[in-house]
Amino acid sequence: MCGLIAITGTPGSAYDVFFGLMNLQHRGQDGAGILTIDTKKVGNFHLTKGSGLVENVFSERSFKTLTGQAALGHSRYATVGRNDPNMLQPFLDYKKGLGLGHNGNIVNFYKLRDELVSTEGVAAGWVESDSELMLKILSIELGETPINFETTAHAVKGLMERVVGSYSIICLTGEGDIFGFRDPDGIRPLCLGKRETADGTTVYALASESIALNFLGFKDVEEVETGELVYISKDGEMKRRIIRQDSISPCMFEWVYFARVESEIDSRSVYDSRFKLGQILARDIKARGIQADVVVPVPETSRVSAIAVAEAMGIPFRELLIKNRYVNRTFILDDQESRIEAIRRKLYPISHEFDGKRILIVDDSIVRGNTSKQIVKLIRQAGAKEVTLLSTCPPLVSPCYYGIDFPSAKELVAYGRSSEEIAEELGVDHVIFQTIEGLKESLESQSLCTGCLTGTYPTDISSGLDFEAMRTRDRESVVKKSSC
Ligand code: SF4
Repeated sequence: MCGLIAITGTPGSAYDVFFGLMNLQHRGQDGAGILTIDTKKVGNFHLTKGSGLVENVFSERSFKTLTGQAALGHSRYATVGRNDPNMLQPFLDYKKGLGLGHNGNIVNFYKLRDELVSTEGVAAGWVESDSELMLKILSIELGETPINFETTAHAVKGLMERVVGSYSIICLTGEGDIFGFRDPDGIRPLCLGKRETADGTTVYALASESIALNFLGFKDVEEVETGELVYISKDGEMKRRIIRQDSISPCMFEWVYFARVESEIDSRSVYDSRFKLGQILARDIKARGIQADVVVPVPETSRVSAIAVAEAMGIPFRELLIKNRYVNRTFILDDQESRIEAIRRKLYPISHEFDGKRILIVDDSIVRGNTSKQIVKLIRQAGAKEVTLLSTCPPLVSPCYYGIDFPSAKELVAYGRSSEEIAEELGVDHVIFQTIEGLKESLESQSLCTGCLTGTYPTDISSGLDFEAMRTRDRESVVKKSSC
């Protein structure tokens, strides 16, 4: 999962992109990059990227070189190769005059890379990540033609015929144009906004989430449609076309966990969705006759759902698990040992408030169960009488091939276990998961990717097992192939 933003037609575009990235930081904390183009001289790209948080990568000095009317920014979340600076984006093809940022994961990466080596004469080892692969394929599909809306539409069509997986892509050309497109199943998000300037011209921007554009004063933010290409010239002319649509399958995890609560994804408020997830869970708890004295969220994502649960149950909501905000999300740390250690450092309970009480803990999801086990241990030690764990997400039972880092089913605590067995494993009295019907009701959509919940995926995943084997091998040897 990564954060993307691109803007054209405004002086100081790098500043806008920087502040946009600050609002997309939650989508990736491994590194960031900004690419600009000074359109006074075609092909005059400037690129700065580095490991770490956005505010640590860029300084005042960076903006002296990141000049130009158009800019593209990327914040990286890697599932593999986390510490490899070569994997930071945007990637740039100087020869073609094209920079690219990618959010997603290409399922047939290894197959496509082998094809490029054997049929296109690409040197083995040239393409180290699926995002570089996307840039290479796009450049090949564009050929020697100049980059404009029609040639790009033709190239994106060719790319969509070859590539299987999830991808939202944004690009910056040597002319100062920007364009973006979403995969034919719309798995990863991308939105478009416009802003009027003082002299009456319109500036367009593309970003992963509406919060980044709203923060920068962009209005009328709308989704880039599934399989759609949006092309914006440096003069502010915007053209769009749906290139290919196979299904409408946005990732349900965007609303449940990943996106900022202020954002709208596919025109559905993340806040409203999380609130509804809580209301539906409360309905289920009441139906089962489970009693409780207090509702406690696992910070941060589940707070809105926990408020909804407390309201619907008529019992107090209390923030009794305190987060050290300077520890990164446990979910995106490299290995099991680091995750357990990070949980210990990350959360601390207000112990005396748990003593003798029946507690409802609300979490956004239960992946490996490490966080839940640690929390339950702390709460039990503090004297809780009864602990019920609520998950706003249904049980995760299958791998994600589209860029979320729970790749192996056997790592998932819900895999092959009943609710009673999961409760026993986690040390709680009851565990209650959202149902898939409840999830769809909350997100007001019947068209979602639910691959990790059902094992049925929107794309062909026949390359998935190879992908898993290769990725595991890469993880173990800490080489570069990476997802974003
Ligand atoms: S498999 Fe799950 S996590 Fe992955 S894209 Fe689909 S819904 Fe999202």
